[in-house]
Amino acid sequence: MLRTLRTRTRIPRRPAAALLASAASLCLLAASAPPAPLGVGDRLYPHLGNPGYDVTAYDLAFTYPGGNSEPLPAVTVITARATAWLERINLDHSHGKVRSVEVDGAPAVFRSVGEDLVVTPRVPLPPGLPFRVTVRHDSDPAPGKGVESGWVRTADGLAMANQADAAHRVFPGNDHPSDKAFFTFRITTPKGYTAVANGLPTGTRRAAGSATTWTYRTRHPMATELAQVSVGRSAVVRREGPDGLPVRDVVPAKDRRRLEPWLAKTPGQIRWMERKVGGYPFENYGLLVAEAQTGFELETQTLSLFEKHLFTEPAYPKWYVESIMVHELAHQWFGDSVTPRTWSDLWLSEGHATWYEALYAEETADRPLKDRMRAAYRASDAWRASGGPPARPEAPKAGSGKIGIFRPNVYDGSALVLYALRQEIGRPAFERLERAWVGTHRDGTATAADFVRLASEIAGRDLDGFFEGWLYGEKTPPMPGHPDWRSRAPEAKAGAGEQGR
Ligand SMILES: [Zn+2]
Repeated sequence: MLRTLRTRTRIPRRPAAALLASAASLCLLAASAPPAPLGVGDRLYPHLGNPGYDVTAYDLAFTYPGGNSEPLPAVTVITARATAWLERINLDHSHGKVRSVEVDGAPAVFRSVGEDLVVTPRVPLPPGLPFRVTVRHDSDPAPGKGVESGWVRTADGLAMANQADAAHRVFPGNDHPSDKAFFTFRITTPKGYTAVANGLPTGTRRAAGSATTWTYRTRHPMATELAQVSVGRSAVVRREGPDGLPVRDVVPAKDRRRLEPWLAKTPGQIRWMERKVGGYPFENYGLLVAEAQTGFELETQTLSLFEKHLFTEPAYPKWYVESIMVHELAHQWFGDSVTPRTWSDLWLSEGHATWYEALYAEETADRPLKDRMRAAYRASDAWRASGGPPARPEAPKAGSGKIGIFRPNVYDGSALVLYALRQEIGRPAFERLERAWVGTHRDGTATAADFVRLASEIAGRDLDGFFEGWLYGEKTPPMPGHPDWRSRAPEAKAGAGEQGR
């Protein structure tokens, strides 16, 4: 995610503390505990995700009614494998009416507790057993009480922006990046609309009357927060990327010509990224240009979401727009293919995306990386004081929602860590590390400790001490090679009001 220069008011999402309130019970005689919201114990968001199973695939079916203020009838089929005895299956889900739930085809009892949909199968599921949960529900694009849906309502339809925790307000699932899975999307639209989702199309067919069902499938596993479904009066613009990579952009049909000069830049940007870190990791890529005011761009897998405004606002310099395009493109390697395993590992995703954003501006627009890093160094102590060190970010302030962790310390503050590392181990070793990182962890999840280990291996020496200060220190360590760089005292509060940039 990258916020653009404007700031926007967001509807505050529900504070996490409220979620656990319903778990308490005084019933001491119950044979088993009452249904309660569970989580995977993420340091920042302990209630996100669920223990006891591993999702292998999602099959999501949505029916777009032709307007974006009414709920979409939806069917979510989750194929998973139990990793422990499961008396109940907890799914993250908190928005939209649930009509029925089946486990392996048999009706199951279900109850909404906190932000979980708790499903009780007829018989407990043993570890190792594959199972299938089918949920018939509404997927509601309208905001709930104090929370936004993961749907973004555009001028002509819908798009998705689920980061960090909004996927479970679109469909039930295991809404934590540690559990990646394959996705199939089946979107039924009325005549005149086009639907596109992550991955490649596997077919379109006429549905009832003049409706069409569009099917897409991912060839690589994906985190729930990276799911994308676009419905609109769209044009799908196709071209070829490096080595025949299919590139398709989804844009408002009326703006196709106007946007073309920007869209045409993608193949060259992919080639640039491939020269830096190796082959593009997915089956296709493209921009989804939405007529909506989100205040951010988002790296949804294979189809990054951009506000149309970014490309039509004459005040934005060309280099700035291009570097944001590269930021979201770089995320396809860093964040999407190699996914941070916990929300505290977010710096691995945003730090690298910011790094390549800045490097591209240096190489193509004569904006020296060193200048940007010197400025980041000046602000770094204040960023650490207001948001925590890069790899141990503080939980968001109440009312700012889960995306409150997207602070400068995970953007330029973390690109600064990479700059320090390049200064420390030298450019050749740093470049080898970047390639090895995306190669080793491709299609997986990874942590800060994994990065430290691989960096030490490639540098041929123990870098634990180096990373301890840079990733977890309250103060920014001295910059190797630039002993004269100074960080301003935290009192300056450079973090406030500079979110995302
Ligand atoms: Zn980003």
